[in-house]
Order: sequence, then structure tokens, then C-alpha cells
Amino acid sequence: MKQNGSDNKLISGRLETAGVIPTAQRIAIYRYLLCEANHPTAEEIKTWADKNFPKLSLATVYNTLNVLIEANLLKEVKVPHEAKILYDSNISYHHHFLDEDSGELVDIPSELVEVTSTLAKEFQVHDIQVLMRGKRQKTRTQH
Ligand SMILES: [Zn+2]
Repeated sequence: MKQNGSDNKLISGRLETAGVIPTAQRIAIYRYLLCEANHPTAEEIKTWADKNFPKLSLATVYNTLNVLIEANLLKEVKVPHEAKILYDSNISYHHHFLDEDSGELVDIPSELVEVTSTLAKEFQVHDIQVLMRGKRQKTRTQH
């Protein structure tokens, strides 16, 4: 793996600010989540870790993910097309678009989606998450 020293410094700083002790494993996993992965499953993270940290167990991966979730650096996402939990390093309020062809989950800024509701007052809504499904037109020609 190509190590980027300044990146790692930034990431360990973020972990420390959130109250997480920045061990090498945590820095590496968080860096992968932030910079390389797109809503991965724990198994995908484990597959990646196997190439870089051969001794990392799946239990350690889950443990690290839970530490990041508790520190509000990571969110769990549940979508209908994937039975497993996906991990989202984008902790800002946002929605998702599911590309039905590629299965890719794309972050959609919340300001691009307007949700109106005429629910009765008895429903006190704390959170709205929109999952849009469809096809994403490629903007540049491939092949
Ligand atoms: Zn997301």
C-alpha cells in the first residue's frame, strides 16, 4: 500500500479529536473508508485489509468499525439491495441514489432533495432518509 504521511497525520488528528486512540489499524481502516471505499461492507473492508494487514481478523475489523461509529465518524447504512450493513464515512446528512445497473450507492447532498410531508401531528419525525433507485447516465462515453 502506498503510504501518504500527511494524509495519515490528518486522519490520526481526526481520530484524536473524536476521542479515538489512533492505532495503525484504525488509521488504515479509516483512511480506506474515507479515501478509497464507497459504502463498503465489513467483508469488503476485511478483503482490503488482508492485502495490507494480513494479521487483521474480521473481529478486529468489526471492533474498529464499532469504535468509529461510537465516535460519530462512521454511519451504518441499510439498503434493500444488500442484505448486509454498509458503512458510510460521510457523516453529514445526505441521501442515496442506487444505480440499479452497477449496484453503486451514490451520495446525494440533502439540499438536492426536497421532502414534504403531510403527516398528522402525532408523527414526530426525527430523521428522513431517501433512497432513490434508477439508472445513472454516464456523462462520458466508455469503451
Ligand atoms: Zn452515503
